[in-house]
Amino acid sequence: MPEVLAPGAVIGIIGGGQLGRMTALAAAPLGYRCHIFTPEEDSPASQVAERTTVASYDDEAALSAFAASVDVITYEFENIPVDTVERLSKLAPVRPRPSVLAVSQHRVAEKDFARDAGAGTAPYRHVTSLEQLRTAVEEIGRPAVLKTCRFGYDGKGQVKIVAETDLAEAWGSLNTDDAVLEGFVDFEKEISVIVARGVDGTSRAFPVAENHHVDHILSTSTVPAAIAPATESAARSVAEALAKRLDLVGLLAVEMFVTSDGKVLVNEVAPRPHNSGHWTQDGCATSQFEQFVRAVTGLPLGPVDVRFPTVMQNLIGDEVEQWKTIVAEPDAKLHLYGKSEARPGRKMGHVNRIRVS
Ligand code: AMP
Repeated sequence: MPEVLAPGAVIGIIGGGQLGRMTALAAAPLGYRCHIFTPEEDSPASQVAERTTVASYDDEAALSAFAASVDVITYEFENIPVDTVERLSKLAPVRPRPSVLAVSQHRVAEKDFARDAGAGTAPYRHVTSLEQLRTAVEEIGRPAVLKTCRFGYDGKGQVKIVAETDLAEAWGSLNTDDAVLEGFVDFEKEISVIVARGVDGTSRAFPVAENHHVDHILSTSTVPAAIAPATESAARSVAEALAKRLDLVGLLAVEMFVTSDGKVLVNEVAPRPHNSGHWTQDGCATSQFEQFVRAVTGLPLGPVDVRFPTVMQNLIGDEVEQWKTIVAEPDAKLHLYGKSEARPGRKMGHVNRIRVS
C-alpha cells in the first residue's frame, strides 16, 4: 500500500457509534469514503457513511469481505475482540495496530504500560481473588477503587473501597476474577489529552481539556484547562511519549488526574477519538476527527491551535430535548448522533459553546 491514501480511498471503520459517525463526516471533505462494520442496524455511523456491513465481530466471511473492500481499517471503540482485528490485519492495514488495542482493553496492561513509559499512575495491584484483594487493600490502604480489568466504562464495573466496606461483598459485586485495585487519587482536576501520530512518526497533542463528570459520565470538557502552563506541557508530553512507545498511527486519548501538588497521573488510554475531544470540532484549527482521518490515511497532521475557548457539554438521555433552545443560541454548535431512543445515561449528542471575543 502506498504511504498516502489518495482521495477516493475507502476507510473501513469497525464500530457504528457516534465516534464513527463524526469520523465519517470528517472524512468526506477530504474525499474519502467510509465503510462501517457494526453488529447494529441503523447505527449512528451508518446513517452518514457510504456503506455499512451489519454483522457480528466473529463473522469471518463478513470480515473478509469488509477487508477486501477497504484501503485501511480503523476502529472507533476498543472492546472489539483483538482476534478479530488481528485477522483483519492480515488482509488490510489496521491503524492503530492490534497490539495497541490489547493494551487499552486491560486496565493492568494499560497501567503497566504507562508505568514502563515513565508516566505516573495511582498505586495499583492486579487482583484475581478475594485473598489477593485483602492483601492489596493492606498494601495500598483505604480509600481505594476496585475495578474490573475489562469492559468497564462510565463508572460501570467499579466499586469504591472505604473504611467500612466489606471486602467480600465488594469482591462479589464485581462478578469477575480479573480486577485491579487502585489507590484513590485525591485529585484536583481531571484532564485529558488527545494526541495524533502519523505514519511517518510525527505527532501532535491537542491542548489539554479539563473534564467534569456527573455520575461517572463525562458532562463537560473545557478548553483551555485552568491549569499551570507546566502542567499543560507535562500532560501533553506524557501523551506524546505514550503514543510513541505504542508506535501508534492514529489517535490516542489519555485521561489523567492532576493532583494538588501539580503531578499528572495517567488513568486510562483509548486508541481512538474521545468524548473529551469533541470541543475540537468547533474550537480548534483541526478537529480530532479530521486529525484521525489524516493520521490513518498518511496525510500530514493539521495544526492544533485553539481557535476559540470552548465548553463542550454532553447531552445525555432526555437532555437531548434541549436541542430546541441550543439551536437558537448564536455561539452554540449542536451535534446530534441520530439515536432514536433517549435512554438514561445514553450519550445522545453534545453542544460546543464557543467564546467569540
Ligand atoms: P474510569 O472508568 O477509570 O475512567 O473511572 C471513572 C471515574 O471514576 C474517573 O473519571 C474518576 O472520576 C473516578 N476514578 C477512577 N479511578 C479513580 C482513582 N483511582 N481515584 C479517584 N477517582 C477515580
